[in-house]
Amino acid sequence: MKRIISIAAVCIYAAILLTGCNAKPRSYGIFCFDTYITLTLYQTDGTHTDADIFGECRELLTALDHNLSAHTDSGELSDINAGAYASPVKVSADTYGLIKRCVELSRLTDGAFDITLGEISKLWDFSSENPSPPDNDTLKALAGQRNYENIVLNDKDGTVAFTKDGFSLDLGAAAKGYALAFLKERIKSLGVSSAVVDFGGNIQTIGAFPPGAEYYSVAVSVDETNAAIGRLRIGEMCVSTSNASRRYFEYEGERYHHIIDPFTAYPAKSDIKSATVLCEDGLNADALSTAFFVMGSDKALALCDSLYGVEAVLTLNDNSVRLSNGAREIFYE
Ligand code: ADP
Ligand code: MG
Repeated sequence: MKRIISIAAVCIYAAILLTGCNAKPRSYGIFCFDTYITLTLYQTDGTHTDADIFGECRELLTALDHNLSAHTDSGELSDINAGAYASPVKVSADTYGLIKRCVELSRLTDGAFDITLGEISKLWDFSSENPSPPDNDTLKALAGQRNYENIVLNDKDGTVAFTKDGFSLDLGAAAKGYALAFLKERIKSLGVSSAVVDFGGNIQTIGAFPPGAEYYSVAVSVDETNAAIGRLRIGEMCVSTSNASRRYFEYEGERYHHIIDPFTAYPAKSDIKSATVLCEDGLNADALSTAFFVMGSDKALALCDSLYGVEAVLTLNDNSVRLSNGAREIFYE
């Protein structure tokens, strides 16, 4: 039997209004989470202006980015990172729920996805001007410190504590998908019945199909050329892609990319060139695309096919494509 993984508490479906009075697509760009985000509205019921909808989206994303970033001095994630080893840190119910689900996803993926990579990410510093590979011994030491099992969650008090020093949380592989789940509900609550959000490697389709369409058609691209290797025929879904091309540097002829194998603290090397995951919930799609990239295609497909409502398109290093069972029905070239 397939396992069911938990989805965001915010998933309350708004009634979809098909009688929109505004049918021409309108797009809007926001830079947040260190990523360029495009929101496209296809149909709204006219109860809110486009400017209001885009403004609310920008506000929501900015607040989430600030709260969940490991690179600010305030916000709940930085409070946890600064204080959770000394004593338990109380956080909002939303942030607590997010961290709890991330730990569950780490367990589900046998640690291929691990939010305790903060110190390792800092050391690699992919966004610096002149990056170079960090010192091997320091990386090895940090790999030994991190482990999602070192996070202690107290449901009653809503606190997060660390049992060990020398590691911190990095939500880089999860926060964008998590934000998309919130954004989806906010957008629907503003009378939008059809929209798409393109959030770097994460695409969220929202509500009914655009006028005249029978489904959403989402391109799967696997490297920096952005050329589509195929398309997915879907309804309301989050489609998340992780690969070695989004953030990387080259040093002495070798490419170092930003998806880390938690066990080695080095960029993950598997048979996968790019992992695309689709499911209803943004956080699950985001976290699993990162995990699948690390796990390699055999393990990733075995896990994927054991999960209810999760599908994957995996492009291997030789450019062949492997599909989960359900993806065969909806992927076309
Ligand atoms: P992107 O951020 O480009 O969408 P991912 O969703 O795969 O790509 O997330 C990669 C980011 O997540 C990295 O920049 C780093 O902050 C963090 N990260 C890297 N490797 C892992 C991992 N194995 N588990 C959890 N987080 C990771
Ligand atoms: Mg991810």
